[in-house]
Amino acid sequence: AFDVLVVGGGPAGASAAIYAARKGLRTGILADKFGGQVAETVGIENFISVKATEGPKLVANLEAHVHDYDVDIMDNQRALSLKSGELFEIQTESGALLRSKTVLLATGARWREMNVPGEKEYRGKGVAYCPHCDGPLFKGKRVAVIGGGNSGIEAAIDLANIVEHVTVLEFDSKLRADEVLQRKAASMGNIEIITQAMTTEVVGDGTRVQGLNYTDRATGEQHHVALAGIFVQIGLVPNAEWLKGTVDLSERGEIIVDAKGQTSLPGVFAAGDVTNSAFKQIIIAMGSGATASLGAFDYLIRLGEP
Ligand code: FAD
Repeated sequence: AFDVLVVGGGPAGASAAIYAARKGLRTGILADKFGGQVAETVGIENFISVKATEGPKLVANLEAHVHDYDVDIMDNQRALSLKSGELFEIQTESGALLRSKTVLLATGARWREMNVPGEKEYRGKGVAYCPHCDGPLFKGKRVAVIGGGNSGIEAAIDLANIVEHVTVLEFDSKLRADEVLQRKAASMGNIEIITQAMTTEVVGDGTRVQGLNYTDRATGEQHHVALAGIFVQIGLVPNAEWLKGTVDLSERGEIIVDAKGQTSLPGVFAAGDVTNSAFKQIIIAMGSGATASLGAFDYLIRLGEP
């Protein structure tokens, strides 16, 4: 059995595994796809102390760092369920049953997609999901934000300081964002808000986004907007569906953790984008992975182990 079994091989899981191994704990890391969201990221410019890097490069560094320690890496393995007992048991899709004294959940999240033609093709070529990450790439250009909830309007305000113009497209007849955010957006001269707009297609020249098409749901008319970037802000979905009923989840389906990263189930910790942490970034995921790992160590000491 493991002392610490980490589920998830993104920045949170990698950080947690290294911290656990450095405490001399028997550590395993189970990942559907090592690297997580970072593997899909093109440019990274906000991982402090590394001025600029690329997703696959950072993943290779993460993996090399984990390999420096005695960590049992089980890649391409998906966890299906978590059961508590004398030891925690994780059942994997491949049929394996893994046992551990503590479990550290770091299964991350995925951006909700529009599911329209062109979106996948132009991901990283104008279609973006993270304004903190990719906003500066569109300096002086025209962009759209899809979604008029809090994250959409926050993104529009953030981007309006950097880009030339922001068009917000909201599906509903009104914005769902807080009043104060709507007022702030309205006060900025370069944000246009279009409601009842259903995005139907991302248009490009084969290498970069050039615009989008949408249908005005009130009139049924088709419109085209020329732009260089499209920020999709229609939600972040935590990969925690498989934990429903096992640990407490927030309204958004995120795992609720305390200051030491412990979940509602003693001995089970969580870190990164799958939790109710305030913001979702690589540096934040790594920090919370370290916190949860030290939390697990603390828990084991109190059990009289290791
Ligand atoms: P993830 O990176 O999502 O990793 C989750 C891990 O869990 C993966 O290994 C996955 O395979 C695994 N997993 C999921 N379910 C299971 C299961 N049931 N069983 C086993 N394993 C499972 N942040 C920045 O700071 N800077 C940026 O420039 C930046 N750019 C981004 C660009 C894009 C396109 C995207 C999508 C995100 C970007 N982010 C950026 C956000 C950043 O990638 C995330 O905040 C960070 O990766 C979260 O780390 P994590 O370890 O919590 O989760």
